[in-house]
Amino acid sequence: DPTSETLQAAPLSAVPAAAGSSRTIVKEYDFFKVVQDYLDRAARTINLQEFVRTILSQPKNELIINFPVKMDNGEVRLFKGYRVQHNNLLGPFKGGVRYHPSVTLDDVKALAAMMTWKCALMRIPYGGGKGGVKFDPHSVSKGELQRITRRFTHALGENIGPEYDIPAPDVGTNSQTMAWMMDTYSNMVGAANKQSVKGVVTGKPVASGGTLGRAKATGQGCVICLVEWSKEKNFNLEGSTMTVQGFGNVGSHLAVILSRLGVSTVAVGDHSGYMVNPEGFNAHKLQDWVLAKGSIAGYPGGKPVTREEFFKVKSDIFAPCALENQIGEAEARSLDCKVIVEGANGPTNPAGEKILLEKGIDILPDVLANSGGVTVSYYEWVQNKRSESWTEEEVDAKLEKAMTRAYREVAEFARQHKVDRRVAAYGLALARIEAVYKEREIFP
Ligand code: GLU
Repeated sequence: DPTSETLQAAPLSAVPAAAGSSRTIVKEYDFFKVVQDYLDRAARTINLQEFVRTILSQPKNELIINFPVKMDNGEVRLFKGYRVQHNNLLGPFKGGVRYHPSVTLDDVKALAAMMTWKCALMRIPYGGGKGGVKFDPHSVSKGELQRITRRFTHALGENIGPEYDIPAPDVGTNSQTMAWMMDTYSNMVGAANKQSVKGVVTGKPVASGGTLGRAKATGQGCVICLVEWSKEKNFNLEGSTMTVQGFGNVGSHLAVILSRLGVSTVAVGDHSGYMVNPEGFNAHKLQDWVLAKGSIAGYPGGKPVTREEFFKVKSDIFAPCALENQIGEAEARSLDCKVIVEGANGPTNPAGEKILLEKGIDILPDVLANSGGVTVSYYEWVQNKRSESWTEEEVDAKLEKAMTRAYREVAEFARQHKVDRRVAAYGLALARIEAVYKEREIFP
């Protein structure tokens, strides 16, 4: 679904090697362990109190729900859904819901923890959570999608709520999913008070209580980071080139907004394949194509290439906006760019990151770069609470201020502590959480 928060790209584990090789890469990737290792590194950097590290090393709650849905053909299918609530010290649990066939509890745990760091880094009063349902949303009808969403929301029951845990879109879900979740929750829990509970989810369609500026917010946040980076490095964005993996909500908005700054997208890829255009794609047209067709497949403006070739394309900016674990050792060796802006969560694996840093490629890490999404989710939630609707200009201005501040804080922290920007982003987030634990201490 092209309107989903990010568009899937084939994960490393399922990618047959490029033409000419019969090898199939089969890799187990422990995403949660990777996030725990970054937590430990950042903890050492800031001398984090041991009890805080211990608490944050595991989520507070892990929910697994198996729920039945009647499919169009009359059969009943059982779905496995997850909601992981990592931490709520700074405010309600907050984070997206992912629909993808490869969803696992460990991935959702990793993603939930990352939401805790993002919200703390952006100084928004939320903790972190994440949800998922293990199925392919492209393989069901719209009616089935609605029933799956409503039944999952019902099964979550009062484990979500506008002051407790607030879902949002992620890979495979979108504003329509959020409208169904909000309606279901309102009919369940709100029914007692005959009320709509708009604040139970964010990323809603604007007419149903969403905010202007939310759809493009994640891509926009990436752009704000790139603009700051270009100032820091004295790099001229105008006339530069970008490669983008994933052309869903994040990648497409990133490409469209950057095209206005004179950046041309010369290579794109998604779950359907990869293509290049040295003259630059028309980002608007490609976005419309994906909205209509569901993927970049068949778009007339590009030449198809293999995944291997895609990672070798020379461009100034590489923007992974699909799934985790996309840039490993091989991809990092191939990449010929100046900066990587992580629109996706966890796209670079530690082995890949090591090589990129050795090559002198800057990484604007996920926890910073893609936090524009949850930041504007917070603005939506505040508007719902106050029964207000802000203009797009107001939302944009607030996001720009928040992102710019976070970018500069991360850069400064990295300089001071002589660490890379990912560890810096974690370190800043952890220090803020630690300050509150020190004040409140442990109950009882
Ligand atoms: N799914 C998005 C993320 O990973 C947005 C979460 C939100 O808006 O709560 O940051």
